[in-house]
Amino acid sequence: MEHILKINQLHSSVEGKNILKGVNLDIKPGEIHVIMGPNGAGKSTLANVLMGHPEHQVVSGDATFGGENLLEMKVDERARAGLFLSFQYPQVIPGVSVEGFIRQALTEKNKGQKPSMFAMKAELDGHIIKLGLPKDAASRSLNQGFSGGEKKKNEMLQMTMLNPKLAILDETDSGLDVDAIRTVYEKVQAFSTPENAVLVITHYNKILQYIKPDHVHIMVDGKIVLSGDASLADRIEKDGYESIKGSVVA
Ligand code: ADP
Ligand code: MG
Repeated sequence: MEHILKINQLHSSVEGKNILKGVNLDIKPGEIHVIMGPNGAGKSTLANVLMGHPEHQVVSGDATFGGENLLEMKVDERARAGLFLSFQYPQVIPGVSVEGFIRQALTEKNKGQKPSMFAMKAELDGHIIKLGLPKDAASRSLNQGFSGGEKKKNEMLQMTMLNPKLAILDETDSGLDVDAIRTVYEKVQAFSTPENAVLVITHYNKILQYIKPDHVHIMVDGKIVLSGDASLADRIEKDGYESIKGSVVA
């Protein structure tokens, strides 16, 4: 397969306001992409549009995921096809345990076939320990009483267990201390294989200490204005977004 995700001239609006203004992006198997950009640039909007959030309208453009027309797929179809989004603000879901949620999602992914109870629990517990989550995390309600860092680690737990084709991580590092950031990004780097892809959205400019992106994109005002290799993130770290204004291709 040539592309995992291919976005062509994507425009979106929310409440009558244009947000995405012609986004182009190609993600191939084995790649780690980073999107950086100032607050309000439309980074979360892009993630939400790709996931099919009902608040956002696609105005024009197209997107294919694994060769299929992504924008015509329902939210659950996108998830089943292997698209995973770690939200900037993970929701608390009382009454649904972490284990139950993952079991349900795996069952849906496997077309109704439930995962083996024993094997799944063993795998889950292994990851819970590695991520440094509380030992009882599997049986607790999703995100209830979890600290900021635990919520994000819990997202990484879901990602690892569900093994999506494309994981989109929206500001997974925001509000975390450096130890939690390290744990989270080590998981991201370990998750990356030649078959899948990762799209990391962040404005944390020390990201290169933790992951090795193949492509870095800068998003400003609803567009990717500049793309490059990892050195672009270095430049942003040293000189800020102002410094790239002269090199914007638009
Ligand atoms: P970023 O993630 O880059 O900080 P966002 O995608 O969250 O930016 O927001 C981009 C713009 O879209 C902002 O001006 C924000 O106010 C607006 N926006 C996003 N979601 C909504 C919404 N549900 N209703 C109204 N405006 C929204
Ligand atoms: Mg955001």
